[in-house]
Amino acid sequence: MLPAPRTARQRMIELLTGARLSSHQLAQMLGLPERQVEEHLTHVVMTVARDRSRRFVLEPASCPDCGFVFRDRTKLTRPSRCPRCRGEGITAPRYGIDPSSP
Ligand SMILES: [Zn+2]
Repeated sequence: MLPAPRTARQRMIELLTGARLSSHQLAQMLGLPERQVEEHLTHVVMTVARDRSRRFVLEPASCPDCGFVFRDRTKLTRPSRCPRCRGEGITAPRYGIDPSSP
């Protein structure tokens, strides 16, 4: 018998552990549309939040033109435009899972 296929969320948690990936990279690695990856991500965040041995890390989106960092942004999707310089080359936020510090 073949082993049961792991769910997309379990695979995402494995891929994110010790790594920093954008939703675009995750979509390519999982073979899923980016929209679905972002939906799964919100559940992954909740799963990891319940687990005291791990923590979810969000590297915020930033603007390479002026260095603006979208620190206060709580949404997981990429902002389209820089509020400071109006640049549109915003880098995608990246996600990861780290072990909690003792
Ligand atoms: Zn900017």
